[in-house]
Amino acid sequence: MGFLKTPRYTHLMNLIATAVPFFLFAIAAEWLWGRVSGRDTYRLNDSVSSLTLGGLSQARRFVVLGIGGSVYAWLMTITPFAPWRLDGWMGWVLAFILYDLCYYWSHRAGHEIKLFWASHVVHHQSEDYNLSTALRQTSTGFLFGWIFYTPLFFIGVPGEMMVTVGALNLIYQFWVHTEHVGELGWFEYVFVSPSNHRVHHARNPCYLDRNYGGVFIVWDRFFGSYQREQAAEPCVYGITTPIRSWSPWEAWVHVYRDMLSDMWRTTSWRHRMFVPFSHPAWKPSDLIKDAPTESQDSLSKFDPQVTVARKLSGAMNLLLITAILVVAQQFDALHGYEAIAWGMMLWLGIANAALLSNARSTVFKGLEIARSVVLVGCALQLSALWALATLPAIALTLGWMFLDGEAYEAADATS
Ligand SMILES: [Zn+2]
Ligand SMILES: [Zn+2]
Repeated sequence: MGFLKTPRYTHLMNLIATAVPFFLFAIAAEWLWGRVSGRDTYRLNDSVSSLTLGGLSQARRFVVLGIGGSVYAWLMTITPFAPWRLDGWMGWVLAFILYDLCYYWSHRAGHEIKLFWASHVVHHQSEDYNLSTALRQTSTGFLFGWIFYTPLFFIGVPGEMMVTVGALNLIYQFWVHTEHVGELGWFEYVFVSPSNHRVHHARNPCYLDRNYGGVFIVWDRFFGSYQREQAAEPCVYGITTPIRSWSPWEAWVHVYRDMLSDMWRTTSWRHRMFVPFSHPAWKPSDLIKDAPTESQDSLSKFDPQVTVARKLSGAMNLLLITAILVVAQQFDALHGYEAIAWGMMLWLGIANAALLSNARSTVFKGLEIARSVVLVGCALQLSALWALATLPAIALTLGWMFLDGEAYEAADATS
């Protein structure tokens, strides 16, 4: 891991963290534009879910480091790499282009092979398409994602160059997640654009498994996976078997769980071994009969209606999750406790999902109070001042308990 722990690497990793304020500003601007132009593409519950997953993916390294970095470092010790090192502006341009080619195949595998889809699916569960969808990123990419980038090491791309072009690639992809920009003429032939990436996120049968490029769409045109957006076929966003949940845990595990379940239940050993490498839509033949069929219900967006008090608390929870991430990343005070910070973020994320799905049980309310006590307890470990600063936020996240009771009583009385 030595070379990855150089100060330079840390500095470069912050490229994405540095872009975050800009991302949030752009999300606010897109939302405002939507309100003004009468085409609001945001829903609070969906955006909260996406941004929570984005925050957790940034916090993932608090609990587990990338496997890829270790493998690359190990490879460097045992193999004489390319005798040259890419350098200079030509080297950077070449690395940027070739990284995108590797991204294309990594992304294509992420859609066409179940084992990889289980991780990448997180980016596609949103049934809306806006800039918050861009930040909806997986936390399990560290497992296998690196495999696709090893060729870059063998052609002499230095580690720090690879990390930088990777970050730039991801940052580029942010802006294309919008419904407010139409087709862009010649741009559509060369670059990934809002229009051709909308197709990538659509679950219409004619749009499935298309447009995998990160920055360049030329790979799709070359390898035969390109599809143009059709005016007669408006994009319907999301996955073909919606998760119908706001929970980050469910978002992470549902495909892995289905995969393991199919491997467990099928009676054929041949099928059992094939499941992880099959297309995500494939099922062992003896299990097809109990596969869920697409109901009309699954075509409407998952959108449980909640009280305004719950919406406010939900937004406050998201701010708390973000605050924990920022404190853990920026302040030494949490050094050594990052895993706890990650655990708190996840707990808040799951609780928030229940809140925005109208959970009303006494157990849920008890857990809400418990997590508030734990949060204040953690803040108290830092200082009394931190604990004091947490209190107003906690009060707001619990506000719904006092405010929406009456709303429910009124609704129950009239129904
Ligand atoms: Zn994708
Ligand atoms: Zn996307």
